[in-house]
Amino acid sequence: MKIYNTLTRKKDEFVPINEGKVGIYVCGPTVYDYIHIGNARPMIVFDTLRRYFEYKGYDVNYVSNFTDVDDKIIKKANDEGVDASVISERFIEECKKDMKSLNVKEATTHPKATEEIPDMIEMVNTLIDKGYAYEKNGTVYFRTRKFADYGKLSKKNIDDLRGGNRELLVSGEDEKEDPLDFVLWKPKKEGEPSWESPWCEGRPGWHLECSVMSKKYIGDVIDIHAGGEDLIFPHHENEIAQSEAANDKEFASYWMHNGFLKINNEKMSKSLGNFFTVREIGEKYDLEVIRFFMLSAHYRSPLNFSADLVEASKNGLDRIKTAATKLKEIIDAGASGDMTEIEAKEAEGLNAYIEKFEAAMDDDLNTADAISVIFELVKNVNTNINTESTKAYAQKAYDTLKLLCDVLGVSVDTKEVLLDEEIENLIQERQDARKNKNFARADEIRNLLTEKGIILEDTREGVRWKRA
Ligand code: AMP
Ligand code: ZN
Repeated sequence: MKIYNTLTRKKDEFVPINEGKVGIYVCGPTVYDYIHIGNARPMIVFDTLRRYFEYKGYDVNYVSNFTDVDDKIIKKANDEGVDASVISERFIEECKKDMKSLNVKEATTHPKATEEIPDMIEMVNTLIDKGYAYEKNGTVYFRTRKFADYGKLSKKNIDDLRGGNRELLVSGEDEKEDPLDFVLWKPKKEGEPSWESPWCEGRPGWHLECSVMSKKYIGDVIDIHAGGEDLIFPHHENEIAQSEAANDKEFASYWMHNGFLKINNEKMSKSLGNFFTVREIGEKYDLEVIRFFMLSAHYRSPLNFSADLVEASKNGLDRIKTAATKLKEIIDAGASGDMTEIEAKEAEGLNAYIEKFEAAMDDDLNTADAISVIFELVKNVNTNINTESTKAYAQKAYDTLKLLCDVLGVSVDTKEVLLDEEIENLIQERQDARKNKNFARADEIRNLLTEKGIILEDTREGVRWKRA
């Protein structure tokens, strides 16, 4: 498999550090609010990368953090008059719900920054001991110029940074030895969460978190480090500086960065206010459609979000599901027995779609081309398989379609959606069952509704329901 590596600026052949294994670290969200669909792009893309590695038989260690201490979290906590952890825990739970609806698998580990403070202190100590960091009035800074490779990921020249980047020069931290130095540990301000450390009661800098959590849950060297392209500088550049200075090893073999999800050609972001949360979009569309939409473009290309494009993805996904439903009907009612000679040949030919799909995915995770291959397969199914076909042939086609869709994390099966009226009838039936002390039936109905994503709430005014 070839992966475009931001570090080398070309597609490199993927060679794992340990045969058959792959360690992937994806920078996760800062949890102060619901995630928006821009944040969902790296989640979906790199979850697909993970699924593809699993499909190829790799043992994947997938780590993605939650940044649960940050100015924005603290501000929200102060506004609401609660502890910062109340805010972060709330939005970690909400984020996990969104990930589930987007069919993003749980990471092998989802570390939280606040639970890894001792290891962060240890890394800062190492950096101080090695002369890569220094303390001034309780704040610890990384001595950027001492790290000779600084700028190797973002291809920034350290002297240009000094001359060209006024933000860095006027950051106001004039106690720094050099404006390029960045914070590893900072003292607490009134009302902020803090931890004891050798330097002051305070909290870690954001970049430090990822260096420490990837080391702890994957190792000093990780195969793939990923995130959105806005993280290349300074976040990932600083992670490299910290980790390589501390561990004396190359930090990550491959760096993958997804392009932006845009709206009217502008990056979707909280600060611009041009965002939709995953939750909002989930009210309009099945989130599986959003997943399919995200994968319809190459992950490094910018992707514009528009109702028309999402509608096109919905139609595309429906076409796949319709073909799968037809195949299932034939599997149920088609001719029994062996495939005919012609069918056997055609069925053999289906393997070519698997090969083409893999070729697309092997070419830097080209999900756009991989989806085109699935459409070619659907076309083949629609042309060649009909009610006269054997069950065996339909099964082979169904299995092929499902195999490929599973890699993308989209289901070929049509979800059975209950209509409002059906839900209300079931609720009535449950009430009657309870009146008649038929609790088994009442429970059965509740479970059935839960399975279909309907949540019941027994209130004094009667039973209320909502869709999960
Ligand atoms: P944040 O919570 O802002 O640190 O973002 C979490 C992840 O979402 C990072 O990997 C970002 O690069 C990514 N991200 C944020 N906005 C977008 C966007 N509009 N398109 C794609 N990725 C994004
Ligand atoms: Zn990170």
